[in-house]
Amino acid sequence: MKSDVEISQNAELQPISEIAKKIGIENQDLEPYGHYKAKVSLKNVDDNQGKLVLVTSINPTAAGEGKTTLTVGLGDALTELGANPVLALREPSLGPVMGMKGGATGGGYSQVVPMEDINLHFTGDFHALTEAHNTLAALIDNHIHHGNELNIDPRQIEWKRVLDVNDRELRQTVVGLGGRTSGVPRQDGFDITVASELMAILCLSTDLIDLKERIANILIGYTYDREPIYVRDLKVQGALTLLLKDAIKPNLVQTIEHTPAFIHGGPFANIAHGCNSILATKAAMHYGDIALTEAGFGSDLGAEKFMDIVTPKLGKTPDCVVVVATIRALKLNGGMDKNELTTENLQALEEGAANLYRHVRSMCRFNVPVVVTINKFNTDTDAEVELLTKLIKDNLGLSTYISENFAKGGKGAIDLAKGVLSAVNESKDFTPVYEADDSIESKMDKIVTKIYGGAHVELSSKAKTQLKKIKKMGYDKLPVCMAKTQYSFTDDPKVLGAPTDFTIHVSDLLIRSGAGFIVALTGKVLTMPGLPTHPAALNMDIDENGKITGLF
Ligand code: ADP
Ligand code: MG
Repeated sequence: MKSDVEISQNAELQPISEIAKKIGIENQDLEPYGHYKAKVSLKNVDDNQGKLVLVTSINPTAAGEGKTTLTVGLGDALTELGANPVLALREPSLGPVMGMKGGATGGGYSQVVPMEDINLHFTGDFHALTEAHNTLAALIDNHIHHGNELNIDPRQIEWKRVLDVNDRELRQTVVGLGGRTSGVPRQDGFDITVASELMAILCLSTDLIDLKERIANILIGYTYDREPIYVRDLKVQGALTLLLKDAIKPNLVQTIEHTPAFIHGGPFANIAHGCNSILATKAAMHYGDIALTEAGFGSDLGAEKFMDIVTPKLGKTPDCVVVVATIRALKLNGGMDKNELTTENLQALEEGAANLYRHVRSMCRFNVPVVVTINKFNTDTDAEVELLTKLIKDNLGLSTYISENFAKGGKGAIDLAKGVLSAVNESKDFTPVYEADDSIESKMDKIVTKIYGGAHVELSSKAKTQLKKIKKMGYDKLPVCMAKTQYSFTDDPKVLGAPTDFTIHVSDLLIRSGAGFIVALTGKVLTMPGLPTHPAALNMDIDENGKITGLF
């Protein structure tokens, strides 16, 4: 089979104006970036008319289990059935593109295109975010340099700098060296752009004014008297918002089979909520009859946050949740060595399937129709597919849809598409996992017991102190964003399958007053990744005609 980039280079793209026309985007609302990409104006997308499908998965392997690939294939299958779907997906970050093999634009015959552009600089949204973030950092240091009227304590500044590069060298830095004219020395550090609170804010904002208010509310640090300092105290929310005036507009592209796709925003799925922008999802619902969106990592992280953090702002809950499983990841969850997952192993599959049951049952707690699909790999054996289908029937009472869209395109997901079309019309009353009014402790407790299947939450003494501060500052009714490993329901990446009776250890609570959530840190979360021994960059090249190779 051809590589992803080869398949995408052979695809015949339609002009973006044609794609826009198909779903009724008026010319004056389309801002083309070349022939195959466009931004779409923010007008008229507030009706939430279309159906909404959320794609999530089991606990993944490091390679990912195909949520994006599946979302694209499901979209193409729905197009084939005449259902007028529109996708809403996240934008890839350059750090992982250059680092780990594998893009974020789907794979095989289920890709969004032009994949080279989307995986590289796309329409510049991430650059704009990087600039806005670092402009704020510079304004804070400049304020201190010029007399520090606000009395900001340089040792308590929480706003670091960002870059969209995996650069471990910059995790901890010292800035302001060089004497009296070069600023005030202090310890600083860099995060990757997708970890910036601005990214989470952009993705949760519903318009420019909402964006500006959220930016104004960002907590940047404390004074020498331990009083909080916000962006609004520096009075720079206007300047930062205008740097994002184009980045806030959703980007329109297409799949290889010409299904329209909005690709917009890409916050981390641990320290942030891991979903594309609300504006892209609203646009997909407005312009399509059925919107498909993906939440990062497994359902314990991405989908829970979609339900509890995103849907209140979106004003719409999913009409159907698709849980993607792969046989390789279930075998890993069943105890198999990660280097042997391509060999048949029915016992490991049966044991690992418990992980899938937990994810499906957790999603059913929200009282939404849940559909299960196996993203088929060519190494899956017939006996494995048959066994898993039977296990799902026996344990969950659900049919299983086998998706072969990676190899076959939309045609490979027709059965799933039919299943989804019937599920979105079941009417159910969405039930959140926690109420907005619940305390932070109670929210965490409900997530851990109802979604993860654990027993307790334990707060470190630092987290307890933070909790007191959060209450004092009046943020104790914000939703909680759990920062946890994606590999396990627990906070230990080595505990796979469906463990019970475990405790989740919260080491710290971070205030994200602009985004509007409290991050509960469990374990160590790297907000500036490093590059691996053999970075993907080593495989990439471009020739004299601009033809790219090795981009997966
Ligand atoms: P996720 O969105 O869950 O992280 P992706 O859709 O990005 O997963 O897929 C992860 C990787 O696996 C990609 O490189 C993709 O091309 C590949 N992949 C997905 N589905 C298949 C499949 N059925 N067969 C082979 N490779 C696949
Ligand atoms: Mg993905």
